Amino acid sequence: MHRVEYLSNSFYLHLGATDRALRRYRMFLHPPGRRPLYPQESHCSCPSCSFDDVRHARDVLEEILERLPKRAHAELGLLVEPLDTVFLRRTLPDPFAYRREWRTEFWWYRRLADTSEWG
Ligand SMILES: [Zn+2]
Repeated sequence: MHRVEYLSNSFYLHLGATDRALRRYRMFLHPPGRRPLYPQESHCSCPSCSFDDVRHARDVLEEILERLPKRAHAELGLLVEPLDTVFLRRTLPDPFAYRREWRTEFWWYRRLADTSEWG
């Protein structure tokens, strides 16, 4: 996994990004209970603060997944899929997602986020 991160010159994939993204994703889903969770936009767009937005963490995982060779892809997929399941269960669909143009190709951006994000 580190090899892919190393070889890539992507903005996202600095060394350790996979680990960090996974930890961030788990942390977001951590609060127990059934209360819905709302992703929040990060206030700063530098590579480090971007992780404040859990959707950025999911972007990173997606990008890594796309680049990984088959076997590593499957291994990481096993870690990410259960988190996706929880994410879908604990976030709400955004009925107005179709109105937005920003990144709606990714399903994790089509969930209701903290209202402050969209003004
Ligand atoms: Zn920053």
